[in-house]
Amino acid sequence: MSLYYKSTRNSELRVTASEAILKGLAPDGGLFVPEKLPILDVPMRELGKMTYQETAYAVMKLFLTDFTEDELKDCITKAYDDKFDTEEIAPLAKVDGVYYLELFHGATIAFKDMALSILPHLMTASAKKNRIENKIVILTATSGDTGKAALAGFADVEGTRIIVFYPKNGVSKVQELQMVTQKGDNVDVVAIHGNFDDAQSGVKAIFEDKEFAAELAEQGYQFSSANSINIGRLVPQVVYYVYAYAKLLENEEIGEGEEINVVVPTGNFGNILAAYYAKQMGVPIAKLICASNENKVLFDFFRTGIYDKNREFVLTSSPSMDILISSNLERLIYLIAGEDSAKTRELMEGLGGSGRYTITEEMKAKLDDFAAGYSSEEETAEQIKAVYEKTGYVTDTHTAVASHVCGQYQRGTDDKKKYVVASTASPYKFAKSVMTAIDGKYAASDELVLIEELQKISGTVMPRAIEEILNAEILHTLECDADKMKEIVKGLCISC
Ligand SMILES: *Cc1c(COP(=O)(O)O)cnc(C)c1O
Repeated sequence: MSLYYKSTRNSELRVTASEAILKGLAPDGGLFVPEKLPILDVPMRELGKMTYQETAYAVMKLFLTDFTEDELKDCITKAYDDKFDTEEIAPLAKVDGVYYLELFHGATIAFKDMALSILPHLMTASAKKNRIENKIVILTATSGDTGKAALAGFADVEGTRIIVFYPKNGVSKVQELQMVTQKGDNVDVVAIHGNFDDAQSGVKAIFEDKEFAAELAEQGYQFSSANSINIGRLVPQVVYYVYAYAKLLENEEIGEGEEINVVVPTGNFGNILAAYYAKQMGVPIAKLICASNENKVLFDFFRTGIYDKNREFVLTSSPSMDILISSNLERLIYLIAGEDSAKTRELMEGLGGSGRYTITEEMKAKLDDFAAGYSSEEETAEQIKAVYEKTGYVTDTHTAVASHVCGQYQRGTDDKKKYVVASTASPYKFAKSVMTAIDGKYAASDELVLIEELQKISGTVMPRAIEEILNAEILHTLECDADKMKEIVKGLCISC
């Protein structure tokens, strides 16, 4: 059966999966959503015996129905190979009774690799399928992790070019080094003077600029997005929730049909939305617990039904979650609005205008599947230290936000279900914050020295991704103001 995609802001629009992947964003500014969420057609017991790659096929084939079996399997094989440092791809670590779903074993040691390892392949396959002759220009705004994962995924992929924008003072030292040392003939990295939301808004504005698109089309270019608004990012993320549940069952950690709770450290709302999709597909997930850092716009939203981005933007130790406009929330809004695209458009225009919107009581009632919490900077640091001292397991700052919220929820509700915490980055990526949390004496040390220290105290080996940047040459030094992004893109595209 064919599955089509429509826009959250226009239900008349109907495109195939490959068209949605190529476009990234719908022409009306909406996000592509499947007309109907598919239901898993393989029993959980059978999935439990599958490899990650086989599970990926079983899940993704239900969403990407215009890909042939060969095309999709080819994308999966190219993506989930020895770029990952474990054959399990997304292993579960049981720590103090909680299951950490480790999504950081890919090339750039953050969970973005789970989707960005496969997106370039889905995109080139989509281009072929739709007979696209233009070069595809990937524009990406990053709060740190997406940028590097997208650069690594698209570097030297034929027929593509990638430009990444990141907030100059809003990413970690390791994150910045990872990006500015990226090799590849088709890659550019630009630091902007502003925060992540400025970068994201700038990219969105370029996508919505039809004149600019026409101008570039004449030169043989067309834009697409590697941001988590692309359905080609979301679909691969559904896979690991199915995989995690199936493995818990296979390993007899849970019984047949037993419900679990999932806790997700959230920024742009892509990861947790994938968990919600997994639930709709039949994975027995009870609560989806949304964990925020001090930029707790989502916590407030779930509590009050009011989304309000008018507040101070806080730079935290979990920078990939320093976001006030959670783009993927639009897909949830659309679902709880009863797939009413006019209503969704109205609310999103409110966000674009006054920076806030209020959902109806009826919509709010449909948010029962979700719970939300947040972790202050102090609580996040305490959580890293507490888990380390009790178990020897070291989590990164983002995972610690979720781990704290997990404990908070358990204590507050006495909900005895098993918990899966999405573990979104390797502690090596945030060595400074992690080590300082464990012991204040590290506060003055250099981040790169602390990486060595982290090896010692955790008894783990430095990931390849870190080793690579230690001596790499800096290749990208471009900077610009947030309102000059379009000029930069134009310059780079004309010159290439
Ligand atoms: C991107 C990111 C997040 C947030 O994920 P969303 O899908 O944007 O909600 C959390 N942790 C890390 C390490 C990330 O890179």
